[in-house]
Amino acid sequence: MLDKAIDGSGSLWIGNTDRNDMSAGIYIHIPFCVRKCLYCDFISSCGNEKDMEKYQKALINELNMTQMCGQADSVFFGGGTPSVYPSLYISEIIELLNRKKVLKENAEITIEVNPGTVTLSKLKTYMALGINRLSIGLQSADDDELKRLGRIHDYHDFLETFDHARNAGFQNINIDLMSAIPGQTILSYEHTLGKIVSLNPEHISAYSLIIEEETPFYEMYGRNDEMNLLPSEEEEREMYYMTKQYLAENGYVRYEISNYAKHGYECRHNLKYWSREDYYGFGIAAASLVDNERYTNTSDRAFYIREMGRTDKVREEHTKLSVSEQMEEYMFLGLRKMEGISYQQFQQCFGTNIHEIYGEVIEREIKRELLIWDEKAQRLYLSEKGIDVSNMVMAQFLL
Ligand code: SF4
Repeated sequence: MLDKAIDGSGSLWIGNTDRNDMSAGIYIHIPFCVRKCLYCDFISSCGNEKDMEKYQKALINELNMTQMCGQADSVFFGGGTPSVYPSLYISEIIELLNRKKVLKENAEITIEVNPGTVTLSKLKTYMALGINRLSIGLQSADDDELKRLGRIHDYHDFLETFDHARNAGFQNINIDLMSAIPGQTILSYEHTLGKIVSLNPEHISAYSLIIEEETPFYEMYGRNDEMNLLPSEEEEREMYYMTKQYLAENGYVRYEISNYAKHGYECRHNLKYWSREDYYGFGIAAASLVDNERYTNTSDRAFYIREMGRTDKVREEHTKLSVSEQMEEYMFLGLRKMEGISYQQFQQCFGTNIHEIYGEVIEREIKRELLIWDEKAQRLYLSEKGIDVSNMVMAQFLL
């Protein structure tokens, strides 16, 4: 049931008054990796057994201290490389969630794994724990490109992992791919796409490499011959168009700007981010959105461990979103989905006709052919042209 209320600060709140009806998502951040990839700016670092043991204690404490409303129909173990974390710890977390009765039956439970960090027996353990979706970080099927990225594995390791995953019984597998890698050519990218599609995974995430500050790649950029092998902007666009076309021809539906899935295999957890459903994040740097309040955990692992994940200490950057902020998010996150946003749902969520708020922008962008209005479905979504300049289009919706 949706309802409007005035909170203590006098601002208008729109939320679900019957929180037990909701299906939230749960994200668990495992910040350990075998070694840092050269392009990586995620919150992750190497860790030994002792570090993991201490982290686990803090994580369990944070989970214990958190009161969740309703039940979750998705859990996502992300990182980092969750597959370097002892399976026993993953098992403890799932058991705790079950004890707290916060997991819905048939919840989607995903774990990210990297080739070279899982055995068949570990994958069977995951399966036995109820994990039903794997996300494998491959990036490229070309060993030279993998080396340039600083990945710990080669393509053969990936094939072994994929094979083990199928043998362990996983029927829902995502593969992460990357384009615009130094030294990558149109032809080598085409080979990567062809090899991956021939394996028939259920889901493919395809992103372009972005050189982020404070990464070794950023430091090397312009100073290192290898980095000067970055594909040109035109080549990058060609890879992007090739991804779209090739995956569509092979039965993958693009449901978000960078995500493709066989019918019925869209990632339930990630859809929550783009649909602004509630999610609870645990572990360092994990973000949460609960009843229109956003907060993010500290990124400082030592502090998180010292404070034993105490929710009053480790949760930072609390923001109660105003109605305008909620509307902005609704638009720029919703437009990431190929199905776009629903006028009716906007009306239900905010009690206002979308045209009263965004009429001018919507009409202008439809005229420029960057947005498409589907009269029958009453939905608004980005055109192909609009996807190419999606950041610019989405920025128009900031109030
Ligand atoms: S495996 Fe993933 S999280 Fe770990 S360093 Fe590489 S890119 Fe970063």
